[in-house]
Amino acid sequence: MFVLKNLRHAYDGGDVLNIPAWDAESGAHWLVVGPSGSGKTTLLHILAGILRPTAGSVTVAGQDIGALPAAGLDRFRGRHIGIVLQRLHLVTSLTVMNNLLLAQYLAGLAQDKAHVNGLLASLELGDKAGAYPHELSHGQAQRAAVARAVVNQPQLLLADEPTSNLDDQRCWQALELLETQARACGATLVIATHDQRIKSRVSNHYALGDSS
Ligand code: ADP
Ligand code: MG
Repeated sequence: MFVLKNLRHAYDGGDVLNIPAWDAESGAHWLVVGPSGSGKTTLLHILAGILRPTAGSVTVAGQDIGALPAAGLDRFRGRHIGIVLQRLHLVTSLTVMNNLLLAQYLAGLAQDKAHVNGLLASLELGDKAGAYPHELSHGQAQRAAVARAVVNQPQLLLADEPTSNLDDQRCWQALELLETQARACGATLVIATHDQRIKSRVSNHYALGDSS
């Protein structure tokens, strides 16, 4: 589903990532683990095509994303990749419904209110379609961000530290939400985390830094 080859990334401060090869199968669930500063967020941004790596290739769903021009990459990302960043990045001036319709629009897809309503209902947000992000609890905002990430039925779903700062019960809920939604789309799921609690729950681990 995605293939990384000879991937390297360096910031001004030096090398951060060096991944000779990583081939993730369609529908597989992965954790990217490693201590703070080991490059987890950098890797997710590269997989999402938000950041271009210093060297190497990233192929997602058969497309070498480094070969796409910026506009094509934005469109490709919108259609095929769902992202739940650490800060949820819901558009604060738009309702939950319009955040999701915007995601469809930006991907060049038809805006489908019925699909959005069904998705929100399945995430227990049926009564929040008209709410603005500041009117949501943290859990509701996180579910809305997941809804936006999966609204276009991506083939790759990425989440950055989705369980940090959550109590145990909400930690399991957040993990299950991502797993359920990834399964519903048939998406490959990649969760970057340093949360020890979830390490035993996902079998595939890609370790960065000195972690194991
Ligand atoms: P993690 O998510 O595992 O905590 P990051 O990918 O955020 O790791 O960061 C990896 C390293 O790269 C850190 O040392 C961080 O300081 C550095 N870094 C991250 N983003 C930038 C940036 N935009 N410019 C320079 N250095 C950065
Ligand atoms: Mg990070």
